[in-house]
Amino acid sequence: MDERTALIAANLATVRERISAACRAAGREPESVTLVAITKTYPAEDVARLAELGIRDVGENRDQEAAPKAAAVPGMRWHFVGQLQRNKARSVASYADVVHSVDSLRLVDALADAAARAGRETPLGALVQVSLDDDEQRGGALTGMVEKVAEAIAAGPALSLRGVMAVAPLGWAPDEAFARLAAIGSRIRQRFGGPHDPADWISAGMSNDLESAILHGSTHVRVGSALLGKRTPLG
Ligand SMILES: *Cc1c(COP(=O)(O)O)cnc(C)c1O
Repeated sequence: MDERTALIAANLATVRERISAACRAAGREPESVTLVAITKTYPAEDVARLAELGIRDVGENRDQEAAPKAAAVPGMRWHFVGQLQRNKARSVASYADVVHSVDSLRLVDALADAAARAGRETPLGALVQVSLDDDEQRGGALTGMVEKVAEAIAAGPALSLRGVMAVAPLGWAPDEAFARLAAIGSRIRQRFGGPHDPADWISAGMSNDLESAILHGSTHVRVGSALLGKRTPLG
């Protein structure tokens, strides 16, 4: 094991311990939380190191970066978590298992079309990203639109409605943000969840706030810097 792999292994052990402790505190099973390693800004070699350490779920927020890494490290489950332009839908549908950041009816149409053309064996998973503070500038559907976007995802065969996703808005207490997301997720699950698509994922929690997210029912934590190190901002 090279030095970098050993460092990532130590970070991974710490993150898994945090997830376990948060699950114990919440009375949940650690298996009920999936760790999605966010590899943005880090090279494909780090994705391979994570694979060697048993990680299968990896996430990226830009197609330009994700597509070559997905090609370089086969066998991973790719989660797309960033704002997505409709003209990137074809590319993303060719390698991603699930898109966490679906926030408009137009994007649902583009992804459904792309997924249908991609000749996939399974539908492309989709989560509705919720703008918890109804700020239109940063990604996410306004709270009043969430059900419409979920309904559109659930309507066709090319996409599979997995649930809801959010990032805690700046300046909000994570507990407040994630409690609100849990309530929205529960409504979506009751309205649109079915035997094939239970729509029961809650994608919430990052390096700094995963404990709060798990307390409020997160099923998928998206962790980058706590695993791979602090990112230098892209120029
Ligand atoms: C970068 C990113 C993460 C991971 O953030 P960290 O603070 O590095 O854990 C999670 N979710 C999204 C949508 C991201 O863009």
